[in-house]
Amino acid sequence: MNNAMSQKNIEGWIASQQQSMVDQLMHLSSINSGTGNLEGLATICDEYYQAFAPLSDSIEVLESKSVQRVNHLGQANFENYGKIISCVKREDAPIQILLVGHMDTVFPKDYHFQSPKIVDESIIHGPGVADMKGGILVMLNALRAFEQVQTDNQLGWRVILNSDEETGSHGSADLLSSAAKNAHAGLIYEPALADGTLVGARKGSGNFTLTVHGIAAHAGREISKGRNAILLMSEAAQTIASLSDAKRGITVNVARVTGGTVFNVVPDQAVCQFNIRCETTGDQQSLAAKLDKIVQELSAREGYSAVLSGSFSRPPKVITSANKLLMEWVVECGSAIDVEVKFKDTGGCCDGNNLAAAGL
Ligand SMILES: [Zn+2]
Repeated sequence: MNNAMSQKNIEGWIASQQQSMVDQLMHLSSINSGTGNLEGLATICDEYYQAFAPLSDSIEVLESKSVQRVNHLGQANFENYGKIISCVKREDAPIQILLVGHMDTVFPKDYHFQSPKIVDESIIHGPGVADMKGGILVMLNALRAFEQVQTDNQLGWRVILNSDEETGSHGSADLLSSAAKNAHAGLIYEPALADGTLVGARKGSGNFTLTVHGIAAHAGREISKGRNAILLMSEAAQTIASLSDAKRGITVNVARVTGGTVFNVVPDQAVCQFNIRCETTGDQQSLAAKLDKIVQELSAREGYSAVLSGSFSRPPKVITSANKLLMEWVVECGSAIDVEVKFKDTGGCCDGNNLAAAGL
């Protein structure tokens, strides 16, 4: 902002938007947009399109990439994630800022929590209210405010709203990465921590599915011919869990195991899904190598084979000197309006991990 007068005016304008933002948030929260609810996501996409179009020089709706993933039953399926909004303003300006949000929430359409409720004048409970329908409204109104005071055309922006953040942004990762390479700074509108602290560094994270194949056999007549996939998986799950290292900030969560059919058949398949998080790219590489080794050893057992799918789709977000500078600017902006801004590291991931990995 160029002078104190325009800052004062714009603060007044922002304050005047509060009721309409609350109304809009209640409306958006009442539309289910759980990841994979393509109908709900299309509806919410239309809402955001109408909201961002008047601000943008151009706006387009793209399709997420369809990605093949292995489910908890060991079946490989192509997953569709829905639409992505991409809009730009002054794309030829010398400074380019990338603003990213996600339209999806963690609440499926058959989940009991569907309707927002105003608890008191500072709290609204509702699906996606904080993560991140509220965040996108903050982004939208910050841009509306900015466009009223910017006069020198030096700063351009691009907004990307994806539909698959809550499951790892597999269908939008390529777009985010290429957009990050063309921007000078990026901001993600994820919620703050419970006390209002913003997030600094984030751990990297990977979701994996291990499938072990054995040999089916009748439990009574020929059990010795069978190779029990569940028993081998139980060993494998312990080995994978032992990759945790609290001192290095490495966590492993064995999240789901399936396998077997009926009492009298030796199970020939078991599937284990797990999540691994770590703080550095070096640890991520060495964990990937350890997982490969575990799979090789499982496959070397007589009568067995093992296949691992998945990857570290969220690289660690390590705070670079450039990130630090941006964080200092955020603190400075906060103090200009008497808001104390603090940062803290977290084990949670978001699209900020992907933008940082692309060099932003
Ligand atoms: Zn989020």
